[in-house]
Amino acid sequence: MNTQLSRRLFLAGASVAAGASVLPKAVFAQAAAPAPAGAFALPQLGYAFNALEPHIDAMTMEIHSQRHHGAFITNLNNFAKDHGVIANGSVPKLLAEWQQLPESIRVGAKNSLGGHANHTMFWQIMTPGGAKTPEGELKAAIDRDLGGFDKMKADFNGAGGRVFGSGWVFVTVSKEGKLAMVSKPGQDTPLMDGQMVLFGNDVWEHAYYLKYQNRRAEYLANWWNVANWSKIGERFAAAKAGKLAI
Ligand code: MN
Repeated sequence: MNTQLSRRLFLAGASVAAGASVLPKAVFAQAAAPAPAGAFALPQLGYAFNALEPHIDAMTMEIHSQRHHGAFITNLNNFAKDHGVIANGSVPKLLAEWQQLPESIRVGAKNSLGGHANHTMFWQIMTPGGAKTPEGELKAAIDRDLGGFDKMKADFNGAGGRVFGSGWVFVTVSKEGKLAMVSKPGQDTPLMDGQMVLFGNDVWEHAYYLKYQNRRAEYLANWWNVANWSKIGERFAAAKAGKLAI
């Protein structure tokens, strides 16, 4: 990640944290701790922590974005201090070639790079507003490759329910616009297979447990209410133009 972009993302992330005055003080105080300076920085959410309620609660969004994603940023900046390959590489390329990373940091860096990429995508593709269903060429691709919107949602919810322990469900997109569904354990990502991610949902318990406890199926079902089809449509177009990175 280049320095100019990192600085912009860091400043934007700080402004989101500063706007969170409705949150409990103890939680906010920890969340507002400054991120370490370095090559990596938290991206902005683009909406308030409580913007996705009632489907995803404000405290979950704050802890998830600031602490869980924040930990990946801290780890990556620590790796970057000693390893130029981390400091200077692009995240998708590092993930696609993660098995060539220095052995001493290989698994940790893969997990943190995957966690950073997955969550950066995740914050983008949720919104309190926006189109509620896929439109245009994206709708046509879903009809063609995934059996239509309703079948895609049902299959995606099923795949999310079958993830054992912690992981993600994704829809990938090729340069030709072909879609496919895949689930991954931990913070693994289709980027590790050299594929592009159209969208995905986080089924780690930290993504839903405060509100839904063990009811992952209910979280998966409600999550579609906050999917940002405008943004996912932009990602689809970017993939076909060869411009979709994370
Ligand atoms: Mn997560």
